[in-house]
Amino acid sequence: MSRISVDDARALWQAPDEELIARANEVRDRYHEPKRATYMVMRIINYTNVCVAQCDYCAFYVLPNQSGGYVLSRDDVFAKIDELVDLGGDLVAFNGGFNPRLPLDYYCDLFASVRDRYGERVEFYALTVAEFVFLADRAGLSYADTATRLRDAGVHWVTGGGSEILTEDFRARHAKWKYTVADYVAAQRAIVESGMRTTATMVIGFDETLDERLEHLQRTRDFQDETGGLFSFLCWTYKPYGTAFGGREIPPPEYWRHIALSRIFLDNVPHIRTSVLTQNEEAFRALDYGADDFDLPIEDEVTQKAGARIDLDLEGLLAIPRSLGYTVEYRRAERPAALTAS
Ligand code: SF4
Repeated sequence: MSRISVDDARALWQAPDEELIARANEVRDRYHEPKRATYMVMRIINYTNVCVAQCDYCAFYVLPNQSGGYVLSRDDVFAKIDELVDLGGDLVAFNGGFNPRLPLDYYCDLFASVRDRYGERVEFYALTVAEFVFLADRAGLSYADTATRLRDAGVHWVTGGGSEILTEDFRARHAKWKYTVADYVAAQRAIVESGMRTTATMVIGFDETLDERLEHLQRTRDFQDETGGLFSFLCWTYKPYGTAFGGREIPPPEYWRHIALSRIFLDNVPHIRTSVLTQNEEAFRALDYGADDFDLPIEDEVTQKAGARIDLDLEGLLAIPRSLGYTVEYRRAERPAALTAS
């Protein structure tokens, strides 16, 4: 099957499920054994909830001058990582807000101390690309210099979070202080060029059009063609509770179909990940639609504040993909090849 265009994808979105599933699995089979999936046990550590970006779809943040803001201490962070390790996990993702009181040194010290304490036993995604852009901006540094500072502090990964829908119109409607798509892409390119690795993410279920979803996929595929730096693509769904924007959740079948379309379109990204965090039990059906990997998260305050439900019965969750005929294997976070000698 040859690569599909945006026009092809628009037409394919109207196809019945059987066709989407068959075509998604053609691409999945190029990368993965059929009926085999991988997973990780992970924790998102929300190190601060203070944020000046004011995205209207966010129920998590408080402004710097409001009550209820926090910054986790190093001991708080260590305690959360220790708890994750006790539960069998080995991946942490740091995700907070655009907190103007935290300088770049705060992050470098924090990440260096985590690397120092846990070595290679625990891998971590340091920040999202969106937070990275804010840090560089606040520090007055280029993206390249900011990436070098983080890498030298022991960072291997900066996750592609904060992309939501990568169109300038979407950002103008919902997140006008979260920088532009051009900023996001330039920063992610600098991250890859520094030797660190990154991922692609996407959030659907706001008010985005099909064309906006396709523009996001096109940007992701182009970026991967250019850099080869994307390990995976994770899509999750908007949780509207407690947000200024409000709205309703999209039904799981729409999510599954979007996973299939993404698998077909992103023929150059090895892993397509389904979101247990926002879809719970329904996430596993996406394995039939082309996904091959998933997290079992034990905490994420950002989505929990907006209505996400965490289930700590990990064996109970793993029984679901098994009941769908999948073997599931734990996947350890990899150290990027470019950093193996450092
Ligand atoms: S989504 Fe992130 S950047 Fe936007 S307001 Fe919430 S914490 Fe801030």
